[in-house]
Amino acid sequence: MSTVTDYSFFSAGKACFTVDNGRKHYTYIVQKHKSSDILFVRVFTGSDNTAYFTHYSYLGMFDPALGEIRITAKSRFGMTSAEFKACQWAITQVRDKKTLPDGWHIRHEGRCCKCGRKLTNPESIKAGIGPECAGKTKKVQALAFNTDNPLKQSSFDFQAFTGREVNYD
Ligand SMILES: [Zn+2]
Repeated sequence: MSTVTDYSFFSAGKACFTVDNGRKHYTYIVQKHKSSDILFVRVFTGSDNTAYFTHYSYLGMFDPALGEIRITAKSRFGMTSAEFKACQWAITQVRDKKTLPDGWHIRHEGRCCKCGRKLTNPESIKAGIGPECAGKTKKVQALAFNTDNPLKQSSFDFQAFTGREVNYD
């Protein structure tokens, strides 16, 4: 299983995990600074889950001794944000070995069984295969160019315009 159960996971240096309550999910990385023991927490806010510095937003510093994320001047989210609260909650649950409420999960990243890419979306982690390799993105991309449906077309314009692979997480 992909459930995070060991508290040392968060201070290992390259932790990537997804907190999910069945309706909403957030993906985080806790990364050790290259020349010190400082642990930086970032939350995934983009579309490329491997681009730590451009597709994740800085959340704060993690103090493993206290089990706390400290907000700093450069934090992009405050202590009252869902992004912060979900992360702090997850770390505390694992540290205190709590049984998670029904429907909640804290999962470490997975790997696609076909292409080997990093998986962070709860459905992808569970399936062990990314949406593109599972053939799930073709339909969405086709909609982007479907001129018969202007409503759907406009909602997928961004992907059509940039040519990005849709939903690749
Ligand atoms: Zn794949």
